[in-house]
Amino acid sequence: MAEIKSYKMLIGGQWVDAESGETFITVNPATGEPLARVPKAGDADVDKAVKAARKALPAWKALTQAQRNEYMYKIAAAIRENAKELATCEALEHGTPYQDAFGVCMGAAGKFEYAANIALALMGIQIPMEKGQLSYFKRGPMGVAALVIPWNFPIIMLAVKASAALAVGNTCVIKPPSINSMTDLVFARVIQSAGLPDGVVNIITGSGETTGKTLCCHPDVDVIGFTGSSETGQNVLKYASDTVKKCVMELGGNNPVLVYPDADLDALVGVLGFRQFNNCGQHCSGPGRYYVHEKVYDAFLQKLAAFADSIKVGDPLEEGTFMGPVVSKAQQKKIEDYVDGAVKEGATLYYTRKKTPEQEKGAYVMPTIVSDCTHDMKIAREEVFGPVAVIIKWRDGDDLVKLANDSPYGLCAHVWTRNLALALQLADALEVGNVFINCQTLSEEQSWGTNVKASGLGREGGLEGLKEFTDLKEITIDYKTF
Ligand code: NAD
Repeated sequence: MAEIKSYKMLIGGQWVDAESGETFITVNPATGEPLARVPKAGDADVDKAVKAARKALPAWKALTQAQRNEYMYKIAAAIRENAKELATCEALEHGTPYQDAFGVCMGAAGKFEYAANIALALMGIQIPMEKGQLSYFKRGPMGVAALVIPWNFPIIMLAVKASAALAVGNTCVIKPPSINSMTDLVFARVIQSAGLPDGVVNIITGSGETTGKTLCCHPDVDVIGFTGSSETGQNVLKYASDTVKKCVMELGGNNPVLVYPDADLDALVGVLGFRQFNNCGQHCSGPGRYYVHEKVYDAFLQKLAAFADSIKVGDPLEEGTFMGPVVSKAQQKKIEDYVDGAVKEGATLYYTRKKTPEQEKGAYVMPTIVSDCTHDMKIAREEVFGPVAVIIKWRDGDDLVKLANDSPYGLCAHVWTRNLALALQLADALEVGNVFINCQTLSEEQSWGTNVKASGLGREGGLEGLKEFTDLKEITIDYKTF
């Protein structure tokens, strides 16, 4: 076996191994070969990291916003300078095509600048009181933030959480997804190169069930920023309850796409075809299941299949690759089982392709379209999180809002129609946190997330995302007494 590179964790400004000396290996999903050796943090390492973050907190939160922002801008510059290395890590360890990963790094830099800029304008609130009295809410950081990152976008997910937490004066302990640990350890090195004081950012690697759990249970953590599956999120909420920690949770989804007969099908396929297959469909905001009106059903399928057919699937490091492998063999099996199960339940495998012998070795899933699904099939009820379009036909008289809302999730929904009045009525009726009408744009200023059903608590990104990492203290004074 070829020599693989070892990486260390960042605790209190020092690059360290786990106290136990234990490590684990991450894998290149394109080849199935080992990629990196990373430390397996135990309870003692988690405790050291939380203590380091706690020690760094008073000085970090005492900085003026302008002083903290200098660090934030330096982090953004460091990300841009190191974007090639970061993008290569994400391509190798996550399977993101290099060009996309490079774009993700630019987006990550933008998150730190945006958070810094918006933090400058974050204000407290003054409350109207009787004459001679003053009452106001002062806004400050929560304290030590535990940031638990999912694998679907290891760099941008870390960036959106860390930028918000740090900008407003929290210190943090980051727990990357175990299978993409190397990428986030390299990212942490880039962040630290901005000259942050020791302990402001700490990163520990290990499995969710051990390292992640210990971190979320730690009594000295004040706020948890978590993105992952709803199932794990439920566990995290239980851990947090012991010391009543605030939790900002971005969880699972199965986003309905409502396609009306007057929809612009070319635009729809351009926007959602991209979302469906880019990053192998491992997008929380992507299409979960499509309800397509019978009048445009066949035309839509043909256009989507033509889009799928135009995609280059291959080595993430090769120019022009649109789709690399999914993140792991386990994820590959899970997705392919959903497709096999749907076909057994009566659905049609409308489009897929054969893998090359090279692709058979890696965790590749081909672009796939499954048509003739019904609302009750497993593939339409659960979160597939892969490059698989799940298509259901609807007819006049069907209660589409009821079908869309009949889900354990409430993350986002997509509406495609040229009837503005209908689109806005649907936006009101859909039980989700974000509704996209004839588009799917998420800019820096927008926030993402929901409090609906099993899809989450609170919001991430934008002004609202920044506020989640702050606390309000109300101070009331009778100044006639002085
Ligand atoms: P996951 O729940 O398996 O893991 C998420 C993170 O939690 C990882 O860092 C993991 O190591 C850690 N973890 C696992 N078990 C833990 C435990 N018991 N205690 C503490 N931490 C634990 O999710 P994933 O497979 O990495 O990501 C895919 C999921 O994330 C999908 O369900 C997807 O919908 C969801 N997601 C949601 C959003 C959103 O914004 N709502 C965004 C991206 C991904």
